[in-house]
Amino acid sequence: MTHTKKQFDVIVIGAGFAGMYAVYRLRKLGFSVQAIEAGGDVGGTWYWNRYPGARCDVHSLEYSYQFSEELQQEWNWSEKYAAQSEILDYARHVADRFDLRKNIQFNTRIQAMLFNEASCIWELTTQDGEEFQARHCIMATGCLSMNNVPDFQGLESFKGEVFHTGNWPHEGVDFSGKRVGIIGTGSSAIQAIPIIAEEAGSLTVFQRTAGFSVPAQNEAMDKTYEAQIKFRYQKFRQENFNRFAALNNNPNPISALGISDEEREATFEGRWQTGGLSFLASFNDLATNIDANRTASEFVHKKIHQIIDDPKIADLLCPPTILGCKRLCVDTGYYKTFNRTNVKLIDVSANPIEKVTTHGIKTNAEEYDLDILILATGFDAMTGALLSIDIQGVDGLTLQEKWQGGPKNYLGLSVSGFPNFFTITGPGSPSVLANMIVAIEQHVDWIADCLIYLRENSLSRIEAQQHDEEQWVELVNQIAGQTLYADGCNSWYTGANIPGKSRVFMPYLGFPSYVEKCKSVAANNYTGFKLN
Ligand code: NAP
Repeated sequence: MTHTKKQFDVIVIGAGFAGMYAVYRLRKLGFSVQAIEAGGDVGGTWYWNRYPGARCDVHSLEYSYQFSEELQQEWNWSEKYAAQSEILDYARHVADRFDLRKNIQFNTRIQAMLFNEASCIWELTTQDGEEFQARHCIMATGCLSMNNVPDFQGLESFKGEVFHTGNWPHEGVDFSGKRVGIIGTGSSAIQAIPIIAEEAGSLTVFQRTAGFSVPAQNEAMDKTYEAQIKFRYQKFRQENFNRFAALNNNPNPISALGISDEEREATFEGRWQTGGLSFLASFNDLATNIDANRTASEFVHKKIHQIIDDPKIADLLCPPTILGCKRLCVDTGYYKTFNRTNVKLIDVSANPIEKVTTHGIKTNAEEYDLDILILATGFDAMTGALLSIDIQGVDGLTLQEKWQGGPKNYLGLSVSGFPNFFTITGPGSPSVLANMIVAIEQHVDWIADCLIYLRENSLSRIEAQQHDEEQWVELVNQIAGQTLYADGCNSWYTGANIPGKSRVFMPYLGFPSYVEKCKSVAANNYTGFKLN
């Protein structure tokens, strides 16, 4: 079958929150823009991750767009932390409200992208052989969108059902009376386990490394609080924009070590009762001082022992690692689920999984018969989705070759050797260590300004300079090196969760300083870029 090549000024790959806003913004500026989305509708991560209990751990009034005052005033969230279905409804509402779907092609996966140097045009091919051309490409492919399915021997032979939390069936899963096994104890598992345990006949949790979790203390939206925020929404957004993670997490500007044990305990207790990620901001040195961090981890260990009836299970659930080094989880009733008689915790660091059999899981100590196996095994984060596309820049250089030793780019936005190619919330930008929607809007706005600059100055090509790219990578690493997070654990922030992936701390720490750098580059006629 022959296809004609569809041509656009800009092609956006992905129609999650990043792709949707890019379509909205660029279309309004008069660019012809097309988004290509693998899923059947908008929503990105919230389209795919429909496992029971999936919920955001950033406050609803903050985890939402701010580009439209009418939108943020008129949309009402029902809970402090919105559930996946409500966030997906919100995404659909935004798509309807701004008529975005007319510029999005769904159920289409980009397979290859090639930069044609002579014409200065990107040529894109889908899995079905459809072809597109665009002057610029914007990768809105998401940070946690490439599922990690570990290479368990025998997985295909399992006779029951297998699900990955990151690709959950739309019709849901019936657990009633079933023997369910779940591998993993990260954020996804920690949300799913309490709910599945209530429905399943039995639930066996295969834990390799215990994860730290704090209670969400989720509740119905406080209407008075909502009214107060909406009364001063723009100012509230601006205040958050200037915060370290673009979040209102009430940072306590003192050390955990300079106060009495009672005062420290009271602070942690207050944060525990408030719930959520603000626990990380209990003191200003939890991310940088191992002794300060130990006070936080000891507090959580004590809580786990208070909640769990069996001290041996409590010991197994106490993470031996640095709190916050792997992303802190936020739960509703996670720890107490292990007091249920139908829930079993299996330590697969002591007794590794040998294989998946036709009937369940075999560790080197025992066999577990299962009807349903859930892989809550996370993602090839930040680079996985980008590297799953065969992207070829100048002189035949592929992104896979360029990033063999870890991702290299400038401002987390642009890769030398890949002109007119932008990544939204890519490695080297605050991304997952900031409020993602704020980070997305900042990136899209920066790219939109850049495209206007090119248009106004009759320029057709922009590309990061290698020297500036190298300096940027060094800076990102240098900042991360000041924390306990860079080398303190095997986190997905560093790629250490994927066998064979280069170990590099990927996110840029500190949203405000990052924004300043982006602004200064633009204000200085895109210093660090080659333009022509
Ligand atoms: P994750 O945090 O990477 O957790 C994956 C889990 O699977 C870990 O416990 C890991 O153990 C385990 N695992 C992986 N391979 C394994 C193997 N071969 N054998 C045994 N265990 C294995 O993934 P996630 O829970 O999907 O979360 C990823 C990120 O998504 C989160 O950190 C968060 O940023 C985001 N997320 C957010 C929310 C929210 O907003 N509330 C909810 C869900 C996800 P090890 O630790 O030993 O590697």
